[in-house]
Amino acid sequence: VTEGPGAADSEALATLRRVFGYEAFRGEQEEIIEHVVAGGDAVVLMPTGAGKSLCYQIPALVRAGTGVVISPLIALMQDQVDALRALGVRAGFINSTQDFDERRVVEAEFLAGELDLLYLAPERLRLDTALDLLSRGKISVFAIDEAHCVSQWGHDFRPDYLALSLLGERWPDVPRIALTATATRATHEEITQRLNLPTARHFVASFDRPNIQYRIVPKADPRKQLLAFLTQEHAGDAGIVYCLSRNSVERTAEFLTANGIDAVPYHAGLDASMRATHQSRFLRDEGLVVVATIAFGMGIDKPDVRFVAHLDLPKSIEGYYQETGRAGRDGLPSTAWMAYGLNDVIQQRKLIQSGEGDEAFRRRATAHLDSMLALCETAQCRRGQLLAYFGQEPDAAGCGNCDTCLTPPETWDGTIAAQKVLSTVVRLQRERGQKFGAVQIVDILLGKRTGKVIQFDHDQLSVFGIGQDLTETEWRGVIRQLLAQGLLAVEGEYGTLVLTEASGSVLRREREVPLRKEPKKPAASRSRSAG
Ligand code: ADP
Ligand code: ZN
Repeated sequence: VTEGPGAADSEALATLRRVFGYEAFRGEQEEIIEHVVAGGDAVVLMPTGAGKSLCYQIPALVRAGTGVVISPLIALMQDQVDALRALGVRAGFINSTQDFDERRVVEAEFLAGELDLLYLAPERLRLDTALDLLSRGKISVFAIDEAHCVSQWGHDFRPDYLALSLLGERWPDVPRIALTATATRATHEEITQRLNLPTARHFVASFDRPNIQYRIVPKADPRKQLLAFLTQEHAGDAGIVYCLSRNSVERTAEFLTANGIDAVPYHAGLDASMRATHQSRFLRDEGLVVVATIAFGMGIDKPDVRFVAHLDLPKSIEGYYQETGRAGRDGLPSTAWMAYGLNDVIQQRKLIQSGEGDEAFRRRATAHLDSMLALCETAQCRRGQLLAYFGQEPDAAGCGNCDTCLTPPETWDGTIAAQKVLSTVVRLQRERGQKFGAVQIVDILLGKRTGKVIQFDHDQLSVFGIGQDLTETEWRGVIRQLLAQGLLAVEGEYGTLVLTEASGSVLRREREVPLRKEPKKPAASRSRSAG
């Protein structure tokens, strides 16, 4: 509801209608815009698709001068500028993709006061020439998009963002608005502090996306599970399938195509023209499936993405939330579907262990992964867990639109099973100085005389065959959950299993280990009414 138009906000509303063709503001847009138009600083936390762009575009149009937008998404600048120009907004960008002449034209327009909006990559501001250029023009507002990139603890840190605090020092009279779709309370504080916005007003919108149904299924045969999910629930729908590696992107796209689904691959290794073609087909067509690495999607504004599927585990909840948030921007029912299994945990733990980066980096990456794993293994409402992660109070009764609410998972007392796994690891590790991966541990528990079991005399261990009460799938589920709970750890490039400090309390029977029940035959996809 728009009411009590002051001079500023009526101009803002008139601009919304005249330039953008929308009837009314959404959520807190109006308040934010009014505040910035009046010259105030703002920190805006809003989920993807909520409409952050207008929060700086309209002030840039209403205030005198050019609005300068700092954005790391160089690849999108051309599209953003084209879209604005199509609306009659005088927009331009300066980044490394331009040649000298193109840049000169934009610079001249800026200096002549002929630009409403100027998009800049953050690394530009390291150049004296760029700062000098900005000082010679008239700036109406600074917008710092993807502001979480300033957070060294976040998942998307960009050192160039640290230099952005200078904007406030050099242009104290120009209002600044920092915007992000991903922020925990800690990131939020970091943004405020590092961008030097102590007097900014804070606008924090709800991170809930009620029309997205969250589902995480146990991974068995992921491509087949995906295919079943698509054909049973999203036939003909547009969506994104995320995979970790380029190789698996290509193989998954081929598999879907061979099975009659209109799917194309997208990753940074494909040549630029193919990427551009696939991206524009996705935006234009109704039912294209893009199989992609996380290189795809940042800033893509397609309202009717009906599903986002993950075949591999994201590294953090921020990543998961951002990626799944690309579904259902139009507010219609959509699905965030993920297949997740033991190998995901091992692979991610291995990546952190063997990856570059110092100890602090590892600790951070581990904390991010642990939160993600907790979301995967929870028996509680997934939405509640997500919202709590972002510092928001969840609905105690559950959301009714996630898999754990719709079909509450059974839990069981996994204490003895956990002891069996840990005793096996302990026998190998302490008594024999050996370390093995999950496959060998499960073979020993099941009493399988495989070549590798015989070779190492593992059929002579007292734990050999003590786990015949559970199936292989169930044992893998137990190990996965122990890894997720930090009761077991992964070491080295072969993903060997080792004990953690916490393992001892289980072996000494000092604590219980509640586990989620593994479905005997993991359902390829449970068809539910998606609303
Ligand atoms: P964000 O940057 O928060 O992800 P965008 O600014 O890209 O979101 O906006 C998402 C979509 O919503 C865009 O298509 C935009 O035009 C549309 N939108 C934003 N504000 C409004 C509004 N007040 N009324 C109607 N549509 C809007
Ligand atoms: Zn729920």
